Order: sequence, then structure tokens, then C-alpha cells
Amino acid sequence: KIKETADHLGIQAYLVGGFVRDLFLRKSSQDLDVVVEGDSNSFANQLIEVVEVHKVVQHHQFGTVKITFRDGTHLDIAGSRWEEYDFPGALPTIEESNLKEDLFRRDFTVNAMALCLNANRFGEVVDFYGGLRDLQQGEIRFLHNLSFIEDPTRMIRAVRFACRYHFKIAKVTREAINTALQANVLLKISKERFTEELMLILPEQAYQKMVRELAAFGLMKNWFGREFAWNLAESEEEVKDWDLEKKWLGLLISLENDEIRAVLDRLAFTKSMLKHTLDYVAVRSKLRAAGDCPQEGYAALFGVKEGIVDLLKKHEDLRPLIESYQQALQNLKMTIRGSDLLAAGIPEGPEIGRILQDIHLAWLTGKISDFEEERNYLLQ
Ligand code: ATP
Repeated sequence: KIKETADHLGIQAYLVGGFVRDLFLRKSSQDLDVVVEGDSNSFANQLIEVVEVHKVVQHHQFGTVKITFRDGTHLDIAGSRWEEYDFPGALPTIEESNLKEDLFRRDFTVNAMALCLNANRFGEVVDFYGGLRDLQQGEIRFLHNLSFIEDPTRMIRAVRFACRYHFKIAKVTREAINTALQANVLLKISKERFTEELMLILPEQAYQKMVRELAAFGLMKNWFGREFAWNLAESEEEVKDWDLEKKWLGLLISLENDEIRAVLDRLAFTKSMLKHTLDYVAVRSKLRAAGDCPQEGYAALFGVKEGIVDLLKKHEDLRPLIESYQQALQNLKMTIRGSDLLAAGIPEGPEIGRILQDIHLAWLTGKISDFEEERNYLLQ
């Protein structure tokens, strides 16, 4: 339909960016980027008439249209454009331009290829900058010397793509990263953009490798406050099932609580990521304060997700307490449920949670060891 719309309007349309790269790498992608040589809005309006779409968002400021289809596929349509940066690391402002210039404004050669969609040139590869060669050689290469000065977040992207595809960062590109770093361009990356890049790294399978590589370049210090020493030794296979929260908290293992708070100040996290991190810091403090006292330690661990408890166990000083907690959990035979308390006439509300926690703790610390004692405890 994109093809028909382009032909109908008599304008050129191209698939560009990551979709083209992944097509040549035989990987599938649900994100399609299309550049049209002309007005993206009228193109999108015509397309919407002939295809069934789930959602359409028009960004007039950038001249882009984002369409979501019912099967979850995303289509971004942009007019071929020239991006000017007010300052490095800021969002781009846009002027009209042609495809070659549009592609030149992209980050790496492998991301700067296009596939023509018009019927008479359907499938024709447009590769001005050697993207195919770099794909074959497995190299991430910038498009020009000022690339990282223009947009320093590309340094992080370079590491992400290199690690994801097991590619190398081309020598000239590595040198340009080091030159840009010497010119302190990292200071120009806004909180928001670094956080966005971080949130793109966490879901990646090779996230540990990416973080290590970023640290090796000196790309973490600005946010983590010091040279990043990461001692999580889990294999890719082991961290595969970790959720974003656990992967993020895993990065903080070697940091003290005040350092973690300082990291949070340098990021623009969502409320929920912020809360997860502060909760983690709070539990860690309580566990440290608990020392050898199971009562306090177990209370601090109440309700903490299993995965996070496992993460806390990485701290050697906390391990004995946490291991005894996990052991006690295995032997827990608590029978009382919230519904029993409701049936006994306790009104719905926080009181129920408090009583349940109390009984739970009494079981874990051995104050209750059978059903009889549980009932008596409740009657007290
Ligand atoms: P992924 O598979 O991670 O989604 P992608 O290449 O599709 O990778 P996007 O962030 O969706 O990544 O970007 C789409 C395209 O936009 C890229 O392929 C690249 O051509 C261009 N692009 C994205 N970010 C930048 C940037 N910071 N500088 C220049 N070009 C960029």
C-alpha cells in the first residue's frame, strides 16, 4: 500500500534505517521507517485512507507521522529532511532536504541505507555511504568526522549496535569517539537523552557487555560518578530473564547509597524506576542496620521480589541474613490468609496487611511453629 500511495502521489518513498539494516542481517523488525521525498503529512493522509490503522500521531514540529497497525507494527513517515542541532545532544530542528542529505544526517553507515518502494525501482538499494560493505565486514562506522560532536549520544549507540551484532567499531570511528571524549562532549548530553539510551540498553540481551564496553570507553563515569567497576559475573544466559528493574539495580551493586542517589539526580527516570531504585536503597539500608537481628532483617525483606532479594544477596555482608531468610521462607507453613481475617470481622484496609506481615514474621522468626500457635497468636 505504501508503494501504491507513493506511485499514486508521484513521489519517491524509501524504507530507511534499522529496518533495512536488519533485513540484510536477516533479522525481523516491527519498526518501519519510511522517508518520502515530499510532504509526509499528505502521504500519511493518503495511506490512512487505504489501510486499516490502529493509531496515528502527527508531529507537526518534526514533520513526521507515526502510525501503529493492529498487528503491532510501527510505521514512522518522515519527509526527507535536514536536521540542525541547536547544541550537541539536543533534539534536532528540521529543514527540507533530499534523501542523500537525510541519510548523511544519520548515525552510522549501516543505518544509512535506503530501499526504494516505488514500483519502477522497487527493492533498489540506495547505499551512498558503504553501509552494505560495513555490514559484511561487521563494522560500525560514522558518516563523518564531526558525527559525535554533533550528537554525542551516538557514542552510546555505537557501542550498543557493535555489541548487539558482535560487530567492531571501525578504527576511525573509535578514534573519533576518543577525540570527542577529550573535548568533553559528554557534558552536552541531556539527562533525558542519556536516560533514553540507557533504557534502550537494558532490554538488550548483551546488556552486560554493552555496559562494560561503555565503561571501557569512559562513557559511564559522568552518570555513575566514578570509574565503573562492574562485578556481576552472570552470563548472558543467566540475565536473559531479568526484568528491566533487576537489570538496572544490578548495575548499582558496587555503589553506596549516597552515590546511587546522586546517580538518580543525573537521570530523568520515570516515577516507577525512581521508586524501584529508592525502595532498593531503603531495603539495603535497613538490612545493614539490622546487622544479625533476624526480626528486623526479615521485616525489611517482607514483600521484596524474589529477584531483588537474589540481587541483594550479592553483597557479602548481607548474604548470611538473606540466606537464613530464604531458608526460613522455605519452611514457612503459614495458613492464615487475608480472607480469613476478613471472615473474622476485621475490616478491609491496611490493618489486614499489617496483621498478615506480623504473623508472617512470627513464623519466620520461630515465634510460631505450628497451626495451634498461629491461632493463639492471632487471638492475643
Ligand atoms: P533499533 O533496532 O535499536 O530500534 P534503529 O536503527 O531502528 O535501531 P532507532 O532509534 O529507531 O534505531 O532509529 C531509527 C534510525 O534513525 C536509525 O537507523 C538511524 O538511521 C537514525 N537515527 C537514530 N538516532 C540517531 C542519532 N542519534 N543520530 C543520527 N541518526 C539517528
